[in-house]
Amino acid sequence: MKKKSYRHIFFDLDKTLWDFDTNSIETFREIFIKYNLPGKGVDSFDEFLDVYNRHNHLLWEFYRKGEIVKEVLNIRRFALTLHEFGINDALLSSMIAEDYVNLSPTKTNLFPHTIAILEYLRKKYILHIITNGFEEVQYRKLNHSGLTMYFNEIITSEDAGSKKPELHIFNYALKRSGALPEESLMIGDDEEVDILGAIEAGMDQILVDYNGEFPDSKATYRIESLDELYGIL
Ligand SMILES: [Mg+2]
Repeated sequence: MKKKSYRHIFFDLDKTLWDFDTNSIETFREIFIKYNLPGKGVDSFDEFLDVYNRHNHLLWEFYRKGEIVKEVLNIRRFALTLHEFGINDALLSSMIAEDYVNLSPTKTNLFPHTIAILEYLRKKYILHIITNGFEEVQYRKLNHSGLTMYFNEIITSEDAGSKKPELHIFNYALKRSGALPEESLMIGDDEEVDILGAIEAGMDQILVDYNGEFPDSKATYRIESLDELYGIL
């Protein structure tokens, strides 16, 4: 395949560059101790995390479809999790929700090769972010982990008024960056959200498939580690 000459590269943030799961676990360990959850009937940290992940995933689906707002998403994921452990405490749920939102974006674990690859790419391309997270939260993650300086435009779903994989956020990102779809590349970890969305928008795509879950990805390229980008870009 002849390589296209890209000018603009759009990165997803969570689970592509910023190691969401590791950062999340670190945050939960602190919350677990701070609110003495073992003393309140939550015996296993891993079980707590599993239950939380299940509710969070389902609620994000609702949020993505516009069926609930972010404040509801944030508190309900903890209320439902605690409920499964027999804890029905609205105040505790909202305190944990607030702590989680404040604390997790200060965590700084990135995937291997993140900084090195951004240093390499910034010399050859104009780099941007397209992320479905909350505006304030995503900016804090970028700042704390030292990533802000690498990106020209940082497009969040809040700011775009639309979430990936919807076409609008991609078109909005292209417009704000002054980029054409044919000279643009989307790099993300989610086949549906990042890859199918970018295909719709007429951009090439690279799936970062860390866990090898999508061998049949529709993406232009599929990689399992960020250092594979040196061979492509
Ligand atoms: Mg992602």
